[in-house]
Amino acid sequence: MLNIDLHCHSDISDGLLSPAALAARAHANGVQVWALTDHDEVGGVAQARAAATALGMRHIAGVEISVTYANQTVHIVGLNIDENNQALQDGLAATRAGRERRARKIGEELAAVGIAGAYEGASQFAGNPDLVSRTHFARFLIQQGHCTDLQQVFTDYLVRGRPGWVPHQWARLDEAVGWIRGAGGVAVVAHPGRYKYEPLAFSALLDEFKAAGGTGIEVITGSHTPQQYEEYALVARRYGLLASRGADFHGPGESRIDLGSLPPLPENLSPVWHDWGL
Ligand code: AMP
Ligand code: MN
Ligand code: MN
Ligand code: MN
Repeated sequence: MLNIDLHCHSDISDGLLSPAALAARAHANGVQVWALTDHDEVGGVAQARAAATALGMRHIAGVEISVTYANQTVHIVGLNIDENNQALQDGLAATRAGRERRARKIGEELAAVGIAGAYEGASQFAGNPDLVSRTHFARFLIQQGHCTDLQQVFTDYLVRGRPGWVPHQWARLDEAVGWIRGAGGVAVVAHPGRYKYEPLAFSALLDEFKAAGGTGIEVITGSHTPQQYEEYALVARRYGLLASRGADFHGPGESRIDLGSLPPLPENLSPVWHDWGL
């Protein structure tokens, strides 16, 4: 069975490693088919492909798009895309466009509770000035001793009802799926176990996702517990969705699950890669 890992982040978005360093790590961990899926950005894909190819590892072009659906943020992974597709690139640029203003507001919100210089501090952690994310603020809050780890940051800060929370409108679900499909890719609901929808809203999300042309869902992800592997395997079968697997690795010392180290997909699922000729 092939070791396939289709979700991770480089320093082009909120990961710690360069695309080439991630490729080397994936390969060293035994990954045979690999996708880099930076948030709202395909700027690392060419480097990822070159590094993977040099190592004899199969590369799949990917992205993870931030979407707002029913007042929550949902992530949609696009796999096997043509990263040079113009409509996709325009859509991603539009999705990134509000990030700087949001980051400045996060800085103001943190200043209001006595944490100064957060925007500048977070920006220093960002490898891509176009992509300052909450992860970069989290690293700043840890560096400054306000929190001990990422888990604590995303409990005590930067989330709804806590200091540093700034609501934001990301892309629409149907738009994001459309950009991915238009670029020849397969759209996949990322880490479904992380969303806090009521059951009816969650099934509405999947219905609308499918109506827009979405066909996949992550079952084995670093965000899920083993119990959620079972739960979302059932969801994949019930909704007739293809299943995906990926660590969602962000960096050594930060991510619990390393590239290529998750269990394989359950046998009774149809994988997103079923028609990729692997
Ligand atoms: P943003 O797109 O700027 O809202 O940042 C979202 C990113 O924050 C996600 O992609 C994760 O990398 C990170 N994140 C969100 N919640 C958590 C959490 N509970 N633990 C660790 N990282 C998180
Ligand atoms: Mn992230
Ligand atoms: Mn995500
Ligand atoms: Mn991710």
